[in-house]
Amino acid sequence: MPARLLTTLVFLLAPLCFLTAQDYRGCATVGRSAWLDAYQAGKIAPVPKSLETRFVPIHLTLVGDDNGAGYADPLTLLNSFELLNDDFAEVNVRFYIDSDIDYLSSTFYYDHDFDGGYDLMRNFNRRNTLNSYVVGNPSEACGYYSPRGDAIALGINCINAGNHTWSHEVGHYLSLPHTFFGWESVGDIAKVEAFNKPAPTSLRYAGRTVAVERVDRSNCADAADGFCDTPPDYLPERWNCETGGIYKDSLLDPDSTRFAVYGANIMSYAQDGCVEAFSPEQVAAMNANLAGRSGLADADAPVFTAARVEDLSLLSPANNERVRFSDSVQLIWNKVPNADFYLVQLNRGANFSGNPLTSFFTSDTSVAITDILLPRTKYYWRVRAVNRYDVTGDFSGVREFVNGRELSTATRQDALLAAAVRLSPNPVSARHPLRLSAAGIGSGELSAQLIDLSGRVRAEQPRQRVSGSFELEFATADLPAGIYLVRVTLDSRQLTRRVIVTP
Ligand SMILES: [Zn+2]
Repeated sequence: MPARLLTTLVFLLAPLCFLTAQDYRGCATVGRSAWLDAYQAGKIAPVPKSLETRFVPIHLTLVGDDNGAGYADPLTLLNSFELLNDDFAEVNVRFYIDSDIDYLSSTFYYDHDFDGGYDLMRNFNRRNTLNSYVVGNPSEACGYYSPRGDAIALGINCINAGNHTWSHEVGHYLSLPHTFFGWESVGDIAKVEAFNKPAPTSLRYAGRTVAVERVDRSNCADAADGFCDTPPDYLPERWNCETGGIYKDSLLDPDSTRFAVYGANIMSYAQDGCVEAFSPEQVAAMNANLAGRSGLADADAPVFTAARVEDLSLLSPANNERVRFSDSVQLIWNKVPNADFYLVQLNRGANFSGNPLTSFFTSDTSVAITDILLPRTKYYWRVRAVNRYDVTGDFSGVREFVNGRELSTATRQDALLAAAVRLSPNPVSARHPLRLSAAGIGSGELSAQLIDLSGRVRAEQPRQRVSGSFELEFATADLPAGIYLVRVTLDSRQLTRRVIVTP
């Protein structure tokens, strides 16, 4: 069973840092696809560039540790997804978020080596979609595409603003090698520099002999990545560019021709600030590769609209409400047209520009925040509705509530009642009755009231003797939309539940 979205217990700590930007050791994808060999040998026909945008599904799995901590920040992830789409605009491809966003709590997968990553992909890949896993440490790299698992792993520290790692890995997925292909076997810029003499004519890498690309383009179709519009690149480690987007030193090709290495290509290892785009030949190869992937659902151009913040209403807790219970608070909002899921943030302060206390995706329109709430404490929360095709949008305004005092034992919720009583549907439309039922509660005098937030009793069931179970209804037709409390009393035991009445 795929890990279902978090609907109950949700708490995220600050991401654990296994890699920082300085630690970036590039991407761990190795080898070269047999498909590209055939394509560049002319055995696979190029496809004319489609004028219509092709929609490609990406299934997202956010991996945390065993305690459910360390997940990627959802807002950072959405921004990275937008950058991915920007990078692929020239390819005429637009990615959309497929089905639900899954959360998976597993330290083993969170910090994994290649075998662990393959295991993750084999066990959790969905069919006919580009599976992307966002983890703490993807095999000591920023990310990689695994041909064996046919999926992408991304490090949470490599999806930050301006980071093109996701685009780079999708480039691998669509057959592209590094622009410095072959030099992975050297692996170290210091060693490349140490040549300070003509580069060798070939290198051994990934079980093959790879020709070193010459500046005069005489062997560009057979050397390195096999593309003639990606200039020679011998730099197999992260590097920063100088003015003009070039490496600080020039290098010597096998003909002793001195040349500058350019860092604009997404498939190079230049730092993100240097990287700009794919080359036209790379774009053509990716288009042809994509055309051959018949399994990837190729949705007709969907009619999609970003969810509008104007359509979003935060329903509960009411703003500035002092909520009654300290251990669990239900956040509720309305269902927004065009929204496929929601990004929820809860914080101790009203300023959400840093790392909020918790931040997560859900497909539901309510979520119970448990375990992280302190009594007598003010909390702030907001929600952003997200459309899977167009993830742009704004957060709602910030609402606040006070988590109340811890209740004394005498008035504490009765645990047995809490477990036994069912209230449905909730939220309830005012056209429908609200059903209240329970089984296995013992016997006693039962009463039930529907109370508004001002404390006024709006509906009441007469006191009655029950034995073991009961079932009753409240009519809601005459109630204004809003938040109500249902109070159930069985002899001296009491339970209060919150219910939302919608128009
Ligand atoms: Zn790579």
